[in-house]
Amino acid sequence: MNICVIGSGYVGLVTGACFSEFGVNVACVDNNPDKIGALQNGEVPIYEPGLEDMIERNVSQGRLSFTSNTGQAVRDALVVFIAVGTPSMEDGSTDLSFVKAVAREIGTLMEDYKVVVTKSTVPVGTSEKVAAWIKEGQEISGHTSEFAVASNPEFLREGAAISDFMRPDRVVIGAEDEVSMDILKELYRPLFLNETPFVLTNIVTSELIKYAANAFLATKISFINEIANLCEVIGGDVQAVARGIGLDGRIGKKFLHAGPGFGGSCFPKDTRSVAHFSSEFGSNLEIVEATIRVNDQQRIRMVKKIEAALGGNLSNKTVCVLGLSFKPETDDVRDAPSIYIITELISKGLQVRTFDPVAMEGAKPLLPSSVVFGKDAYEAAEGSDALVIITEWNQFRALNLSRLKNIMKHAVMIDLRNIYDPDVAARSNFSYHSVGR
Ligand code: NAD
Repeated sequence: MNICVIGSGYVGLVTGACFSEFGVNVACVDNNPDKIGALQNGEVPIYEPGLEDMIERNVSQGRLSFTSNTGQAVRDALVVFIAVGTPSMEDGSTDLSFVKAVAREIGTLMEDYKVVVTKSTVPVGTSEKVAAWIKEGQEISGHTSEFAVASNPEFLREGAAISDFMRPDRVVIGAEDEVSMDILKELYRPLFLNETPFVLTNIVTSELIKYAANAFLATKISFINEIANLCEVIGGDVQAVARGIGLDGRIGKKFLHAGPGFGGSCFPKDTRSVAHFSSEFGSNLEIVEATIRVNDQQRIRMVKKIEAALGGNLSNKTVCVLGLSFKPETDDVRDAPSIYIITELISKGLQVRTFDPVAMEGAKPLLPSSVVFGKDAYEAAEGSDALVIITEWNQFRALNLSRLKNIMKHAVMIDLRNIYDPDVAARSNFSYHSVGR
């Protein structure tokens, strides 16, 4: 089968590479010529463990290619995936302009039957719009070939995207007719044979599943952050609470880590989007709205926590921030807590030095120009009054605390991911602050 994936970002590249690994012929399309040029030269423009090897292997075996020629890619494909961005608008609604542009383009280009699949996360009802936009494109070109629209949301986690795609917890497909459903089942046959659970449903339900999943996970994070805040008042330990409740199989251990709140390219925009479109349908999601509010407050709390650890006096003080990406093993800094926290600290008059293993280039344009970037954690920490851990990269889990104490002005650590044992930090004579314990 020939397919094409339009949008070669985190989702599009991983989807394209993994389907080619299954033996499918895949053309990955993007309208950013620099991205396509880099990919054609064997350079992978994002950091995602395992992706580069997989791309190289499948390109050399002739199953995977990169192009900005959408026309050729669409004409050659039976299945066309839309994997472009769906960012948030100011009011929380979803900006569908990229999806619309691609759908209309597909309509102008297609000459025979296609299954057009939205892999982008899109509000309930978007697939109907996609069908209308394709028809608008067809009116321009004069071609009237049949097509089906389907929904196949993506659940991969950046940093573990390859294994999430190759061994997913489930595959969700929403379709309205048997022909397109059968084509997508055939495409996913290697996973079918693997006994991966499939949820085959209608389009509206499939679109909602993606939002319900992300909203639920975000709610777990906001929930444990509220419990952490309560622990700080009563003298409890949120890590023990998380373990104490997470061992209950009905609750589960995952997404119960107290910290600076959720960030990244999905949870913040998807919670806002589902809250927005559900209210438009007249069915408010009160829990999701509270989840968003708690998350916004958590970032503000983290800034206050840092101020308090510095003794309230911020003049002429320097803070070293370790970790910029919204989570480890990715270079994605979209809506990362680090960006908000650093910008706030600088607006309060602090100097900020920072280090991240892979996200510094991406973060630079989003941060005030006064931020100083170190070549490693120690260089960044030099002369600092406090060390703030925002992203729990493995390399920050076992820092040499006595070396840090020697090079820092004051031995203060604010560990927003609870990756240090408070007793170990105290034995190294650090004034240690964490979240919810
Ligand atoms: P991204 O910004 O990394 O990639 C989008 C790509 O689409 C960019 O390379 C852009 O140049 C390209 N593009 C935009 N308009 C185009 C056009 N007209 N023609 C061709 N290419 C075009 O975004 P992403 O993180 O891959 O997310 C894509 C979608 O998948 C979003 O809806 C997102 O919510 C969803 N999603 C993302 C993740 C994740 O972890 N990143 C996980 C699940 C779902």
